[in-house]
Amino acid sequence: LKNNLRDAIKKIVKSSGIDEELIKELSKNVQRALLQSDVNVRLVLEITKQIEIRSLNETPPPGLSRKDHIVKILYDELAKLLGKESDFDFKSGKQNKLIMLGIQGSGKTTVTAKLAKFLTKQGYSVGVIGADTYRPGALVQLRTMCEKSNVEVYGEPNNKNSPDIVKNGLKYFESLPLDVILIDTAGRHKEEKDLLSEMEQINKVAEPDLAILVIDGTIGQQCFNQAEAFHKTIPVGGIIITKLDSSAKGGGAIAASAATGAQIMYIGTGERIDDLEKFSPTRFVGRLLGMGDIQAVLDLAKRLENEGDDVRLKRISSGKMNMDDFFYQLEEVTKVGSLKGFLDNMPGLSGMVKDDQLDQMEGRVSKWRFIIQSMTKEEKADPDLMNSSRIKRISRGSGWPEHEVKELLKNYKNSKSMMKASKGRQMQGTLRRMGFG
Ligand code: GDP
Ligand code: MG
Repeated sequence: LKNNLRDAIKKIVKSSGIDEELIKELSKNVQRALLQSDVNVRLVLEITKQIEIRSLNETPPPGLSRKDHIVKILYDELAKLLGKESDFDFKSGKQNKLIMLGIQGSGKTTVTAKLAKFLTKQGYSVGVIGADTYRPGALVQLRTMCEKSNVEVYGEPNNKNSPDIVKNGLKYFESLPLDVILIDTAGRHKEEKDLLSEMEQINKVAEPDLAILVIDGTIGQQCFNQAEAFHKTIPVGGIIITKLDSSAKGGGAIAASAATGAQIMYIGTGERIDDLEKFSPTRFVGRLLGMGDIQAVLDLAKRLENEGDDVRLKRISSGKMNMDDFFYQLEEVTKVGSLKGFLDNMPGLSGMVKDDQLDQMEGRVSKWRFIIQSMTKEEKADPDLMNSSRIKRISRGSGWPEHEVKELLKNYKNSKSMMKASKGRQMQGTLRRMGFG
């Protein structure tokens, strides 16, 4: 099934002309992939109809080929469904209050602790209020999870009145220089009336700046009703989907977003405290389609268009990368907006570039461009030819000191030997993850 979608995209990319049949086929395969990922049928039909109509009728903007345009439409429409990346908009000079909504077991307490750590690491000072008076040990669970990030948790183990606890907690934190207060709440069975009325009371007391709905990403279509019920009681401002560990698809999450009009902000990807990721529409689309990051797919699609690049990728992944290949990858990397996500898909570079080095990349690329341009054809094809007199010549020709030339050569060699050592395993893994392997 996955392969069908992969093949359909490949077919579009490789075909000399686009016809209606090809577009229908793509649309069918997108449909299947989305339905399999638990996306609501109505939404699926809407979106694929849109893909068909636009693909058949729109004229590609100048500079974009018809195929590129179709892949882009596919992406656009899927991304529209998911909205944009969105993040907290904390006001400075006040304590921003965030309240967690969601049924029991959805992951509120875990998310609270994860966020407490995440925000602390970003430099915010955070306080937490534990207002779950139902689950025995709820407060201990929260304290244990927050302990390591040194976040204080306010709680009253013997008080059963949760709105009261929230009120006292806010008062307790009032005099402290906190930026954010996270309020963890109880949550019992599905849409239970008592739960909702309790939430309503807590909401009145807390006057939160943001209510976050925490939803278990494995529950599929039920997301819609759950989200709607909460939203009617307390307006939901943001959504966090949990349990999207590697195998979960999470298409139901879209329903939660549709029911509330709120954006998915973060996703939980495991039980550990650091298993929290910013929600990325492109990655999520990829997940829904079973294709890894769709951004990488789009870029790969571009590269596939050109048979020469195909050959190049094979050469790189088999450990025979030459200087041109090396530079080609550098250029690709700096062209892409989101470097981080893309680096994994550059087999000859991943590992060489650490997150904090990303900024330096662009400077390097423009520098190295001059250096590589000063190399002869033979030197580029076989950088092992390099010796000190050649390095001297290249240095003079490029206007960069010899140590810069050596730096480039060292990086090239490292990348190449890394590729050799992994014998392309990494590349194949990457392609497989993207659904092309
Ligand atoms: P709450 O009742 O809403 O507070 O839910 P909890 O935070 O107590 O989480 C319920 C269960 O789900 C716990 O066993 C958590 O470890 C687990 N859990 C929470 N988030 C995730 C996640 O992202 N992935 C996985 N695999 N488990 C999670
Ligand atoms: Mg809890």
